[in-house]
Amino acid sequence: MTETPVRARFAPSPTGHMHLGSARTALYNYLLARKTGGQFILRIEDTDRKRFMPGTEQELIDGLHWLGLHYDEGPDIGGLFGPYRQTERYEIYQEFARKLVNLDHAFPCFCTTERLDRVRAEQQTRKENPHYDGFCRSLAPDEAARRIASGEKYVIRFRMPKEGSTTANDLLRGSITIENRNLDDSVLMKSDGWPTYHLAAMVDDHLMKISHVFRGSEWLGTFPLHVNIIRAFGWEEPIWMHLSVFLKPTGKGKMSKRESAEAIKDGHSIFIKDLEGLGFIPEGLVNWAALMGWGAGETEDVLSLDEMIEKFDITHLTPSPAAVNFTKLDYFNGEHIRRLTHIDLAGRIKPYFLNAGYSVDDETLLKIIPIIRERLVTLDDCLPFAAWFFKEKVDVNPLELVGKNLTAAQSADVARKIYAILDSLPDLSHAVSEAPMRHLIVDLGLSPNQVFGILRVAVTGQTVSPPLFESMEIVGKARVIERLQNAIGLLDKMI
Ligand code: GLU
Repeated sequence: MTETPVRARFAPSPTGHMHLGSARTALYNYLLARKTGGQFILRIEDTDRKRFMPGTEQELIDGLHWLGLHYDEGPDIGGLFGPYRQTERYEIYQEFARKLVNLDHAFPCFCTTERLDRVRAEQQTRKENPHYDGFCRSLAPDEAARRIASGEKYVIRFRMPKEGSTTANDLLRGSITIENRNLDDSVLMKSDGWPTYHLAAMVDDHLMKISHVFRGSEWLGTFPLHVNIIRAFGWEEPIWMHLSVFLKPTGKGKMSKRESAEAIKDGHSIFIKDLEGLGFIPEGLVNWAALMGWGAGETEDVLSLDEMIEKFDITHLTPSPAAVNFTKLDYFNGEHIRRLTHIDLAGRIKPYFLNAGYSVDDETLLKIIPIIRERLVTLDDCLPFAAWFFKEKVDVNPLELVGKNLTAAQSADVARKIYAILDSLPDLSHAVSEAPMRHLIVDLGLSPNQVFGILRVAVTGQTVSPPLFESMEIVGKARVIERLQNAIGLLDKMI
């Protein structure tokens, strides 16, 4: 593991919603930067104007902040190596494209789309991989200059060496060697003057002094091209690592839009914004994402971001694809919810009650935290468990008031006995109310289930609730008594 401070970057394109894959790429870059006391940089790669999706840059920025992955340099905060948004670096790419042409490592290409389509079709007939056929590779520089001056449309292509081979080294996968004749003269600058990723990212990584590039494995195919571009400029290469891909929960095939749509139905998603809305907390999400690809042995560790920084070691990462396991996400989320302080958790669940239309008093909210936190998997679980605490009156289904194997008349009788006892007590603190209720069960020869079932439905309006005596203590005697009276009335009507 390197001890030198690294400069790592997260370089998303604002072309879609931030998802699990981008979050984990950002996270690993962040962990490496923090681990080594280096810098974590956000760079927005927005030169693909066709795929640009308004609003997604802000979503990425908000997503990073929400996840706790704060960056040291970025488009909104600046830094020594800015600008950090590629559309603001147009001139820089022009200059470096020119430089590469002057060095004879790149050339202008005037081939029309029609010609390229024809060439590709012919190659397909011959069962060859589609590639540029080198038509403009040997145009004389003065002829190229004349055609550019006359306004002819052109792109700039990399002049890939045709002899020899390229060896590129990936920290996770070792070295990869490919014959140069299998590599293409890829486009570096499009006819609209905007650079492709290949040029823009290499130039920026160099100028921004990026020492480590951790990126998605979709870039493995063009990795040799990138290495060639850097070498053509005579620059030092960063250390590369192509991260593992995510597979469907079944482990078969890559996670696709369809699986994501399926996941939403059972309260999960691979999109960060969705996960936030579904009640996942960043601590749980980051822990889950980090350990997918972290390697064996540590896949259940509940870790904070600081603990992850401490433990992070690139030699533990694995190139094997990881199946998305939402059950583990639930696990980590629940565990991290239980690591929150009561005040913190109260602050995080309060908006759920407010958004559902309840008026929340903070005193009650703080009291219910200890009795519900064990059961929360996601923050929004607070609603089914605890929204009733904030209701003036609970809605009771009379049928649920009838105890198991009891008639409505018997249940009304039990409810009256409960009422008489609770009403006689000075208050309904847990310590005061539990023993007399347990005696009642014995006296009546009934099961706790039968008696407490009636009391639970009467007080909470639901068959499942947080622990009953603790709940009654919070609700207070006056409300419990009032609700019992209401329940007796409902049961009487059923007789
Ligand atoms: N803009 C590229 C993407 O979103 C970045 C890849 C990289 O990290 O270099 O895939």
